[in-house]
Amino acid sequence: MTALPDAFVQRMKKQLGEEAELFFQALTQPPVTSIRLHHQKGRLPFQHATKIPWCDTGYYLQDRPLFSQDPHWHGGAYYVQEASSMVLDYVLNQLTFLPKPRIWMDMCAAPGGKTGILAKHLGAEDVLLANEVVGTRRSILYENLVKAGYINTFVAAEPASAFRTPFADIILVDAPCAGEGMMRKEAEALNQWSQSLVESCSQMQKEITGGAFRALHKDGYLIYSTCSYSPEENMLNVVGFQNQYHLESVTVSFPENWGITTLNEAGSSGYQLYPHKLRGEGLFIAVLKRTETDDDVSRKKGKQKQFFETVPKWLTAHLSSREACLVRKSDDQNGLISLAAVPKANELLEYLPRAHVAVTAGSLKGKDFVPAHTLATSRMFSDNFAVIDLTVETALDFLERDATTLPAGQHKGWYVMAFEGTYLGWAKWTGQGWKNHYPMSWRLRNRIRS
Ligand code: SAM
Repeated sequence: MTALPDAFVQRMKKQLGEEAELFFQALTQPPVTSIRLHHQKGRLPFQHATKIPWCDTGYYLQDRPLFSQDPHWHGGAYYVQEASSMVLDYVLNQLTFLPKPRIWMDMCAAPGGKTGILAKHLGAEDVLLANEVVGTRRSILYENLVKAGYINTFVAAEPASAFRTPFADIILVDAPCAGEGMMRKEAEALNQWSQSLVESCSQMQKEITGGAFRALHKDGYLIYSTCSYSPEENMLNVVGFQNQYHLESVTVSFPENWGITTLNEAGSSGYQLYPHKLRGEGLFIAVLKRTETDDDVSRKKGKQKQFFETVPKWLTAHLSSREACLVRKSDDQNGLISLAAVPKANELLEYLPRAHVAVTAGSLKGKDFVPAHTLATSRMFSDNFAVIDLTVETALDFLERDATTLPAGQHKGWYVMAFEGTYLGWAKWTGQGWKNHYPMSWRLRNRIRS
């Protein structure tokens, strides 16, 4: 590891006092590997995994497997996620919510690790907006959401300035930051560090959180997190948010033996995860609640615009009857939303018509139905489609977009390719052979053959 910047060392010594040496020592240790199982499809595919205390679907792995060689990873059965960041799961469990449908927003969502945790907490009538302004990162977010197949989830690309009035009930601002907590995991975090980076991040975080506040309903929660240790990005910002906006600090209590540090400053609380006190990287998290009355209710008038319609006849037979759905109007990919979540989805789209539904059913090409990848990963396809269970080798062939080793189909048409219960995507049996419909841009490129 490159030497730590002197200014960072001095500041951490001041912040941590006699604990500082343990902290610096922890930074010389290898980072831990951890995964979070998909809350609906995850089945632990690893031996020697131990549970992460603050997330019931999170596991530490003993070593770091080559995830790209595991079909379950491609099928979204689990997500490789840093252990400390999963503390969001526990925080959400501690919050009290009124029993009503909600709109959730992940304001800085890519690559989507925490979006997956928010999705785990979504109620049947709730919708989730995963927002990401940076285009290249949004593509990765989209890929991860599609592979996970989270229903009732939308993707958008709005800058903080676009949020002017309240529409959301829970907002996560997992802000871009100086990345101090990632120093032992990512060389870039160490190489890029400077005090001026900390200050510019702090400024950017204020602007983003301003947008989040404007978007938040009364009694709504704003969860703020960074992977830094600096007061400018963490507690000073939280105190500033509380003073500037109508927000109150919400306290969270963690079991003492987890090693999470509570920070209190000027009536605000925040929680810091340090690598010398627990198995994970650096992370800061705080919860704020909007207290002042907003006036969005008085602004709402007239009939609610309807963005969804009944599933067209030709599509009904292709959809599972387990979940009743509507489709987005004028969407040739037929974005799906479950019936219970339609009111909140309409409300969200009235506010942000550019947002698009992550789970789509597919489209008509002439008279033929072409299923969307998400129809497989979300398990929203009907029982009329046969599922073919592949071996690990043929599953990897399929993920490479090879079609020559798949077992023959029984009849012409679409099949879902699966590996040990994880749905990987679609292939079409022509009678003579297979057409592999795994998305070209996500295909496995670095196959390692034993
Ligand atoms: N929440 C993500 C997760 O758990 O996978 C990680 C988010 S990362 C810490 C911060 C994100 O903020 C990045 O994807 C970055 O592209 C985005 N970002 C950068 N500038 C931004 C801005 N001005 N407004 C909103 N988001 C921004």
